[in-house]
Amino acid sequence: MILLNFASLNLCEPLLGALDNIGYETPTPIQAEAIPYLLEGRDVLGCAQTGTGKTAAFSLPILHLLAETPRNGPRKIRTLMLCPTRELAAQIHENIELYAAKLDIRSMVMFGGVSQKPQERNLRRGVDILVATPGRLLDLMSQRLVDLSKVEFLVFDEADRMLDMGFIRDIQKILAHVPKRRQSLLFSATMPHSIVSLSKDMLFDPIRIDITPESTTVEAIKQSLMFVMKADKRPLLTHILLEESPEKMLVFGRTKHGCNKIVRLLERDGFEALAIHGNKSQGARERALGRFRDGTLQILVATDVASRGIDVSDISHVINYDLPNVPEVYVHRIGRTGRAGQGGIAIAFCDENEGEYLRGIEKTIRQSIPVNEEHPFHSAKAQSRKGDKAPKKKQNRGRPRRIGVEDRISRKSSKGGNKFSGRGGSSSRKSSNRGGNKSPGRGGHKRSRGGDRTDNRSGGGNRNRSRSGGSNRKR
Ligand code: AMP
Repeated sequence: MILLNFASLNLCEPLLGALDNIGYETPTPIQAEAIPYLLEGRDVLGCAQTGTGKTAAFSLPILHLLAETPRNGPRKIRTLMLCPTRELAAQIHENIELYAAKLDIRSMVMFGGVSQKPQERNLRRGVDILVATPGRLLDLMSQRLVDLSKVEFLVFDEADRMLDMGFIRDIQKILAHVPKRRQSLLFSATMPHSIVSLSKDMLFDPIRIDITPESTTVEAIKQSLMFVMKADKRPLLTHILLEESPEKMLVFGRTKHGCNKIVRLLERDGFEALAIHGNKSQGARERALGRFRDGTLQILVATDVASRGIDVSDISHVINYDLPNVPEVYVHRIGRTGRAGQGGIAIAFCDENEGEYLRGIEKTIRQSIPVNEEHPFHSAKAQSRKGDKAPKKKQNRGRPRRIGVEDRISRKSSKGGNKFSGRGGSSSRKSSNRGGNKSPGRGGHKRSRGGDRTDNRSGGGNRNRSRSGGSNRKR
């Protein structure tokens, strides 16, 4: 299906006007695929990552449908969007505010780590769309400050991440408070068994959409590998900064303490850098990210809290200062550059203890990262230890530390495919049910209804909308 512009998706005028102002001209593949089905009222199971334009793919049709059936009486939460991290929640909310600029629809964002008072005030004023992370939402629900009984649209973004982070029980508790009659959307970068079973509990006869990243976009990222002794990593970083004068550089460290140290050492060399990780206050994280986004901060040093979900355009360099011990994380990290098909440079440092991690990464990406020996800190010793096992970590014998959400992000395995999706990605769609009819007028894509799916929700109930052809928002 080739869609030339958003008007052909039949979105309402205020949305088209807002998109025009933002400068979106052509729908991305996931938008072109998902929006028509969502406007019809179908549930959607999407396999797509941040960077594919999925926020607009789920927000635009919801905004259209909300605008089409205006509320009577005070504002009630009609849409709940759940996502795993504060940054992603804030980003989704910001996008919605842009898209809804010409509509009488109010959105708010809710996450932990900040005072709940402003969130309470927003709730009291009334909102139509709530974008939340599960922990704080449950907290406010238990204080009876949130009423989800009028939710019509439920979105799970980065569902695999939410499950990885141990949110499954929170999600189940939240689901129990959301009406069964609703339209649901679930997006995930990967489709492990746990996601498929979650989707069975929450989606009704979903259309499945897969956005396959296009390999050419991977090529837009120039990867290189530098063998260096651990003690020389920081001077090597300074060397790169002086040699390449990167416009925007994102440096990934393994630990929070390590990131702070990199920032301090860079400052000593005359470079301003800021760190974001789980020990930083939400305000500090937002300020750093804001400055990095608007280009007033050249260097951001981060743990893996920043490796997924964050959309900062024009990052010219990603430095893997420490190699991740989970190979897929490498792919997510370097995917912070080269977004939307632009070029980008990804440099990985590998020290004398990281050979095992490097082997894991190269096995996962099925290629050897080209080695750059043309730098003053090249270490033949580190290179020779590529075959070695990583040294065992020291055991922490003290009191067990409470693991925070961001710790869990960096510790847990980041399952997931390629992050190089951008707008060049191709897509395929299939109904989650096997077999099926060919849907007329939909470019011959297969989709089916019914089948042997077990749905534990109370069935029935079409909800008619005023769109031509009506809607079939089955519950
Ligand atoms: P997302 O995957 O939602 O994080 O989107 C990735 C980036 O693509 C964001 O900066 C969006 O603003 C941008 N974007 C989304 N849809 C479009 C579009 N149709 N045209 C241009 N940019 C878009």
